[in-house]
Amino acid sequence: MSRSGAIRPNSERLRTDWERLSRFRMEGLPGWTRRPFTPEYRAAREWLTGRMADAGLAVAIDAAGNVIGRREGKRPALAPLIIGSHTDTVMGGGRFDGIAGVLGGIEVARCLAEAQVELEHPLEVIDFLAEEPTDFGISAVGSRGMVGSLDAEAFDRRDPEGRTLAEAIALMGGRPDKIPGAIRRPGSAALYLELHIEQGPVLEREGLRLGIVSGITGIARYRLEIEGRPDHAGTTPMSLRRDALAAAADVVLALEALWAAGPDGSGVGTVGRLAVRPNAANVVPGFVELWAEMRNVDAERLAQKGQIFQEQVKTIAARRDVGVRIDAVSHEEPVPVPEPVQALLEAIVRELGQPVRRLPSYAGHDATHLAKIAPIGMLFVPSQSGRSHCPEEWTNLEDVTLGVQALGEALVRFDAQDATR
Ligand SMILES: [Zn+2]
Repeated sequence: MSRSGAIRPNSERLRTDWERLSRFRMEGLPGWTRRPFTPEYRAAREWLTGRMADAGLAVAIDAAGNVIGRREGKRPALAPLIIGSHTDTVMGGGRFDGIAGVLGGIEVARCLAEAQVELEHPLEVIDFLAEEPTDFGISAVGSRGMVGSLDAEAFDRRDPEGRTLAEAIALMGGRPDKIPGAIRRPGSAALYLELHIEQGPVLEREGLRLGIVSGITGIARYRLEIEGRPDHAGTTPMSLRRDALAAAADVVLALEALWAAGPDGSGVGTVGRLAVRPNAANVVPGFVELWAEMRNVDAERLAQKGQIFQEQVKTIAARRDVGVRIDAVSHEEPVPVPEPVQALLEAIVRELGQPVRRLPSYAGHDATHLAKIAPIGMLFVPSQSGRSHCPEEWTNLEDVTLGVQALGEALVRFDAQDATR
């Protein structure tokens, strides 16, 4: 029996939740900043716990610090369906990245309750801990922790305040010592769905309200230490300098050229973070810490360009007579979205009267990690002017509401189909 049409999200209710959650921001910082492991983030998640409970979900925090709202199904033995995303932001971030997916998941739970739909599977709505890159040099802490992708060494990493990641997870209500024993295994979830803003310009440019994600980009991140020699900026002749920042500038341009060579959409490379020492106007820079990253949906191309980049860095260092240390901090393989899930989302999008558009995701998501334990599906809603990770980040709440409806309908249909298999 089809129960299609059961999901009727209430955009005013979503707006109210969104306005309330947006208030949990860090004072004195740009945008709508809510960094992981801060008091503001904790307060936001406490509020979120209340909203989950109001939606009829039983709320708990798992070992990895994820807030999980659960609704039982008719057949408790079935693996759960999961809807998830995150509520932390980058520094100076916006009000939609991740947030739309978590609030959307709670709205789906409310719609199910209102329509008195009892799913066959249990449903879990998850706010994953710390999805954005953290001061520990690691992102997606909660989703990695859940599926066993947090290395043992990660727990001992320290942030600039000297706090370990294990301590930070515990502060958020997690139990880092219990994470290894609580790892969810492949097949332990029936489906993972995530609604997210596109964070790029494609949907808006094409006048579309929904996009079906075909795959999630791989990301390779490198941390470089460039060691030159600090010298007097007046008395040291240009020819005798070992300027770490000038070498870093060459690295920035080499990375840009490496990815500019391909056609549009074939990958990107960025240096987004530099620390210069001693960082004084009258001293030749003696040391630079540089973070570089590259993204591609093609695994082979990503690996190949990573190799070329490292070789180019060594060539630059030799030419400029500076020392260099390259740490391959992280390498995430691209993640395809299974064709049957894309087809399911496509059918729903069509039934909602919307044109079908599939597109890759150039941002990493919690879905990247959940793919280890379940088939994943992702829906995008448009980002105004393609802006994201900035205060101007904007998505019409009508589009978010439509996305929630599509996500919920896909969930209901999958539940019925999967349970009869
Ligand atoms: Zn996000």
